[in-house]
Amino acid sequence: MDEQKLIAFFKDLHAHPEVSGSEFRTTAKLREALEAAGVRILPSGLQTGFVAEVGGQRPGRVIGLRCDIDALPVSEESGLPYASQTGGVMHACGHDFHAAALLGAALLLKEREAELAGTVRLVFQPAEEYGNGAQAVIATGLTADVQEFYALHTYPPFPAGTLGIKEGPVMAAPDAFHIRIRGRGCHGAQPHKGISPVPAAAALTLALQSTTGLVVDPFSPAVVTVTHLSAGNTWNVIPESALVEGTVRTLRGEDRAALRERIAAAAEGCAASYGCTAEFEWEDGPAAVVNDAALCGAAKALALQMGFTVARQEDTMSSEDFSVYLAACPGVFIRVGTGGGYPNHHPRFTADPAALWPASRFLARLALERCAAE
Ligand SMILES: [Zn+2]
Ligand SMILES: [Zn+2]
Repeated sequence: MDEQKLIAFFKDLHAHPEVSGSEFRTTAKLREALEAAGVRILPSGLQTGFVAEVGGQRPGRVIGLRCDIDALPVSEESGLPYASQTGGVMHACGHDFHAAALLGAALLLKEREAELAGTVRLVFQPAEEYGNGAQAVIATGLTADVQEFYALHTYPPFPAGTLGIKEGPVMAAPDAFHIRIRGRGCHGAQPHKGISPVPAAAALTLALQSTTGLVVDPFSPAVVTVTHLSAGNTWNVIPESALVEGTVRTLRGEDRAALRERIAAAAEGCAASYGCTAEFEWEDGPAAVVNDAALCGAAKALALQMGFTVARQEDTMSSEDFSVYLAACPGVFIRVGTGGGYPNHHPRFTADPAALWPASRFLARLALERCAAE
């Protein structure tokens, strides 16, 4: 495979996006390309996505490279000649780019397999956007011996040729809360005969705006956002209950625990002060992605040596389930400049194909170097 063929492969994936858990065609195309080059696909039992391997003939370290392969339920408006042919589904986060980049890296590594001291485990992960793809891969046991993990992610603010490599937290833990406030419904003209949950939900929404300031160190970023507030369905009836939902984003485990506790207490307190009760539900997302400082140094040195510009990406409270792999070993989540001018998940998001081949070369070189590292 050469650069032009890899770009054609990427465009084909882009034209045929599949949402989380349905990546059947994508999986088949990737497997086919790898098997044609003699790359081993490991038996995993995964319905979509898979784990492949290069090396393993000579003793050395085990390095993991991970990409994700799923698309989003977004209607594409990019105007590209290779735009999505599936209505309402689009590779709006660039996971087609990640998959093609890792395919390219696998084929480059295969060419140099004889000189590879160690093993490179290649994870083509399903269901990053709306699923438990990383968990499913971990459950196969095929990554248990990986000593370092690396992943790339598209990054519109940087042009092709620039990599964002930053030590420390680069993605947040995204948790969700759902609070049901229960009162007692009645006629809108007789509020004293019922218990309205509406003022309690309103008070709680305002109270949640100040929770981070109460329990989180001002030097530690944290977000509490109410995103969904609903109660009642007409103008003259006091409803039985109200719903307050939102997301909490944190970079540190202690902030996560403190906010959970404070939001639960606020729900109970606000509800009680209006004569209502609250049912609090919390849903843990993946942990924050924290890049290893020493490994960032090695990746940066290689990037500069290969002629990339290395920059620090902007801080973000978005999330990524790559952290699931980093719970077991250190690693780096690298942003690859793909230009385009529209953010990830936007209907006009694009990833510059010029960034693809260099990304494959970088991943392959990084894996070779890290396999041989002390
Ligand atoms: Zn995404
Ligand atoms: Zn993504």
